[in-house]
Amino acid sequence: MLEDVTVTCPYCWETIALELDLSRGDQTCVEDCPVCCAPILVHYTVDDEGQLDTLTVARENG
Ligand SMILES: [Zn+2]
Repeated sequence: MLEDVTVTCPYCWETIALELDLSRGDQTCVEDCPVCCAPILVHYTVDDEGQLDTLTVARENG
């Protein structure tokens, strides 16, 4: 199940769209910002019903 979400890029502060695959459960991945091309560390968790629980984004280098 794919979930479309919008997040704020932690580098350029633009709002960008991401597509998360919730069927794979909790994930940590790196997505390149489509605006500034910086690597965004994306972490999300999925609840017992397969719904998006928490979503956080951070700079890859912390
Ligand atoms: Zn960006």
